[in-house]
Amino acid sequence: MMPKLIDKFNREINYLRLSVTEHCNYRCFYCRDDEHTPNCKRQDILSYENIEKIIQIFAELGITKVRLTGGEPLLRRGIVKIAKLISRIDGIADVPLSTNAHLLEKFAKKLYQNGVNRVNISIDSLIHERFEKITRGGDLTEVIKGIDAAIQVGMSPIKINTVVMRGVNDDEIESMVDFAIIKGIDVRFIETMPIGSVGIEALEQHISEEDILAKINKHLDNKLISIDSSKTDGPAHNFKIKGTNSTVGIISAVSNHFCQTCNRVRLTAKGELILCLGQEDAISLKDAVCSDLTDDEIKNMILMQLTKNQRSTNLILLLIILATDKW
Ligand code: SAM
Repeated sequence: MMPKLIDKFNREINYLRLSVTEHCNYRCFYCRDDEHTPNCKRQDILSYENIEKIIQIFAELGITKVRLTGGEPLLRRGIVKIAKLISRIDGIADVPLSTNAHLLEKFAKKLYQNGVNRVNISIDSLIHERFEKITRGGDLTEVIKGIDAAIQVGMSPIKINTVVMRGVNDDEIESMVDFAIIKGIDVRFIETMPIGSVGIEALEQHISEEDILAKINKHLDNKLISIDSSKTDGPAHNFKIKGTNSTVGIISAVSNHFCQTCNRVRLTAKGELILCLGQEDAISLKDAVCSDLTDDEIKNMILMQLTKNQRSTNLILLLIILATDKW
């Protein structure tokens, strides 16, 4: 029996974020530069067979959850086939999706039928013009159709993720909560991280968890009830909204980083394994599965990389240092 994926700080890794494409149909200003076009040709990206083989290997190393992400995962040709082949792999119990939902109306049913039971949807504004501005061309009407389709087919939970930015959309915290309650879904507010095109400016847009909660509590007349974090999955602090089917989550990645409980690694669309967002050191699992290495040799390669690689214990500090170029 192969050892599990455990890093130097004794953190067990059971969660893989699989980027199925680098392309995105939105250009959220805090995520991508306006002119950013991925330099990724079809032959560079993982094939269905590569994905199946790599996920099988990870499942044998203890990965149980594989999130489909991107870029925008619904742009990947064969996304339903990918969901199907991953969800059938022994040991993979959970295949959630992260999407901007622009194309979700078209795919919700097929994805649900092929193992995607739950979805996180990014939505940073409920005001059409503002949404279009933040996403640089996105269409809120399509996104809401996508959310409704996910509800209709029975995906659960459905979480809307809002990156909160001071002076950009912080006046919509209350309306996002109302929207979630009306739809019977969950909402999570995420602090802007100093990654992507926003860099260090993220810190100027920062709003604390305390301020977000104060706004919501005032709006809802103190109806938030804290949920014991041992009963939830992931880094959010979660609250039930009394008298509704909805929860509110706050992901304070900057003010209260959660590296100590990090259980995830990332696989890029080109098949590079990234053990920590703060590390550029990656190994190509595409090359490995296309070579004549045996599965056990590939597993050993992954385990060795984990031993060698410093997974950060304070990613945000590291990102700030990199972004300010002080060291
Ligand atoms: N296209 C998919 C989506 O919209 O969910 C998946 C990829 S997108 C990069 C994943 C998530 O990262 C989105 O919720 C997005 O808002 C978030 N994100 C991107 N840049 C961020 C930043 N600088 N700080 C916080 N969240 C960010």
